[in-house]
Amino acid sequence: MIGATPDDVPILCESQPTCWLCGRSGQITYTTLNDTVFGVPGTWQMRGCQSCGLLWLDPRPVQTELPRLYHVYYTHTTPGPGNQRLASICQAIWRQIWSDLLGYPPAQLPIMYRIAIRMLQLIPAVSDSAILEVMGVHATWGTHLLDVGCGNGRYLAQMRALGWAVTGVEVDPIAAAQARTHFGLTVHTGTLNDVGFPPNSFDVVTISHVIEHVDDPLGLLRESLRVLRPGGRVVITTPNSVSLGHRWFGAAWRGLEPPRHLMIFSPHALDRLVRQTGFQRVKLQTSGRLARSIYAASRINQARVRGIAPPDDKKIRVKLQRYLFQSVEEFGRLLLNDIGEEIFYIGVKPL
Ligand SMILES: [Zn+2]
Repeated sequence: MIGATPDDVPILCESQPTCWLCGRSGQITYTTLNDTVFGVPGTWQMRGCQSCGLLWLDPRPVQTELPRLYHVYYTHTTPGPGNQRLASICQAIWRQIWSDLLGYPPAQLPIMYRIAIRMLQLIPAVSDSAILEVMGVHATWGTHLLDVGCGNGRYLAQMRALGWAVTGVEVDPIAAAQARTHFGLTVHTGTLNDVGFPPNSFDVVTISHVIEHVDDPLGLLRESLRVLRPGGRVVITTPNSVSLGHRWFGAAWRGLEPPRHLMIFSPHALDRLVRQTGFQRVKLQTSGRLARSIYAASRINQARVRGIAPPDDKKIRVKLQRYLFQSVEEFGRLLLNDIGEEIFYIGVKPL
């Protein structure tokens, strides 16, 4: 099976019939997937592993073809001013939660506001969103943070404001340039392995929604281990192959995103990979913070596949359905931890 980019030159692909992680033969799960996000032409197939829960593209684009799949990518958008008043309110709420849960200096807020925010953070969707906004990085973990796949640098700028010395790595030269010019950040263009940092350089390495895009996740994690100091932490977020959204929407699930998502992990598969690298597990959970947006995008995909009109975002019923889906997922996670749309993993380099 061959994909094609808008210039109509076929994308060179390689066969991957067995599970990349455990070597078992994969079962064909989807046969006619299309890129519904950025419209790269082509039809794609995915296999799934019955043993570890990994999903992967087969055939998949070879490494040298990957840049051609990213003609228009969200990291190219320059961060705009947005709604400043709303942003400052959110920032004050986040800072208070980061102070309470992650040890950062508290926001200067009246006591009644602080009490209200403490009640608000009892809602898992709120506390999860605040924690994942900073990738769960605790103030006491050190001083030097590396973000792999930093995109336009918004996250690094946030962490710098919280007191971290920050460095980024980004394969996309346009996004890397935006991070430098817009935020004045130190960003290396290329992969983590290309840069070749000295060993033990960082206290924290964050890898947010990147590992599903790379052809050699083990190589990425081995290099992360090498550049971390002993006791340093790796933090990973990635779509969850056994989420409620995937179970509900199947081929229309937004998290599949062929052909850019080469591998989609289950919590079990990611845990196996990270520990195989040499990290010790500190935290493994799933989060429902993206459930509403994943639901909305998956409904649109579903409508396209069925050839019907997409749901009207302005209708109250459609908005309520998104909140209902997120609520079901959040309550479901109390019983089945693994059904959130996103995996959140923290590993530590042994001392
Ligand atoms: Zn497997």
